[in-house]
Amino acid sequence: MLANDLAELDRAHLIHPVMSWRDHEARGPHVLASGEGAYLTDASGRTLLDGFSGLWCVNVGYGQRSVVAAATEQMMRLPYATGYFGYAAEPSIRLAARLAAHAPGDLDHVFFTLGGSDAIDSVVRFIRFYMHAQGTPERRHVISLARGYHGSSTTGAGITGLPAFHRDSDLPLPWQHHISNPYPYRNPAGPDAGAIVAASLAEFHAKVEEIGADKVAAFFCEPITGSGGIIVPPKGWLPAMREACRALGILFVADEVITGFGRTGPMFACEDEGIVPDMMTVAKGLTSGYVPMGAVLMSDAVYRAIRDGSPEGATIGHGLTYSAHPVSAAVGLAVMDLYEGGLLAQGRRVGAHLARRLSAFADHPLVGEVRGRGMLQGLELVTDKASKAKPDRALGIAGKLAAAGIENRLIFRAFADDMVGFAPPLCCTEDDIDILVARLE
Ligand code: PLP
Repeated sequence: MLANDLAELDRAHLIHPVMSWRDHEARGPHVLASGEGAYLTDASGRTLLDGFSGLWCVNVGYGQRSVVAAATEQMMRLPYATGYFGYAAEPSIRLAARLAAHAPGDLDHVFFTLGGSDAIDSVVRFIRFYMHAQGTPERRHVISLARGYHGSSTTGAGITGLPAFHRDSDLPLPWQHHISNPYPYRNPAGPDAGAIVAASLAEFHAKVEEIGADKVAAFFCEPITGSGGIIVPPKGWLPAMREACRALGILFVADEVITGFGRTGPMFACEDEGIVPDMMTVAKGLTSGYVPMGAVLMSDAVYRAIRDGSPEGATIGHGLTYSAHPVSAAVGLAVMDLYEGGLLAQGRRVGAHLARRLSAFADHPLVGEVRGRGMLQGLELVTDKASKAKPDRALGIAGKLAAAGIENRLIFRAFADDMVGFAPPLCCTEDDIDILVARLE
């Protein structure tokens, strides 16, 4: 089918997420046809370097034959098995065990979902079951970060702090609260780590007090804020928040949907600071985007509390037809083989190169800060370095840069008005990163 015909069909029938429908109709789709390694070929035959791994998910890169073979083989053998009624397929059991083996501490129990949003929804359900089992059902409020993103379901969009996800939707819900991000570049008192951690703790405690200490159930955060602008908290912030939660009987939920599976270096970003959350959400790199899948990892302590404190040993009214889908699980296992077989190490090596090469942009007059960790990096744009003045929204500078990137055969992401982000596949080589930087320049 000709690209023009496809564009017409797209305009007429395909609703695109998170963009202006009017702008999209004016511009039409950019149709992608195939991919290999870190490169995509579009319907017009142009090859582009994917500096964003699709939507920060294709961590292993495109065209991995072992992944395709695993999916094909599983589809032939057993394309579907429900987890209901005690059934299970072998890959789902093996993937759960593999995740538990990699996850920090006692995050030993795995509930599979279809992606990140329903992993967040599932955590909220589990928190309710947990608090009921503990005899504290009034603990139902959650606190998260103002620039955190936790999905687009009704529950997740409310836990998300970004206003664009609340519009016209009565969100956040009354039990959803937000505190400021630890944000070294724009912290009014400067970038001192100790001061930022202390300010965050004070704001958190004040929020808990305002809600009522016996009413707060959980704190959600991404170890590095992703969609809110690749905001890296100072060292010590994660352990401090984790400890504050423990002391108050508040569950700590780490949303590793972006940061998991080597994106920042280790398998999970929590490992960088040695913290063990009560629950963790993952998706994206779990199957590297080849098929949909997400998961909730639950600590043994939370699992046992729900099992032992709930009626009938926890017959929970929460399930998904495609939970633990065997084809997704088979893909997940093949992807884990790639991570363990050298891709995680490659991502760490090449991520250091990416950070080094991008750091040169710090001298650019429009770049306020270059920040990130490993294969997750961003540039914050300013119009004046000294005053850190933000670009005028109306100019849409970040979006224009991303569009210029496409012209130069490089895909990266524009966030709001003042951020551009990079999350290349872990299969990139140093040469691919040099191409990325040359095209960005
Ligand atoms: N949590 C985080 C941190 C995310 O970045 C995302 C998606 O980008 C989600 C949750 C939602 O995941 P999904 O889009 O798979 O529903």
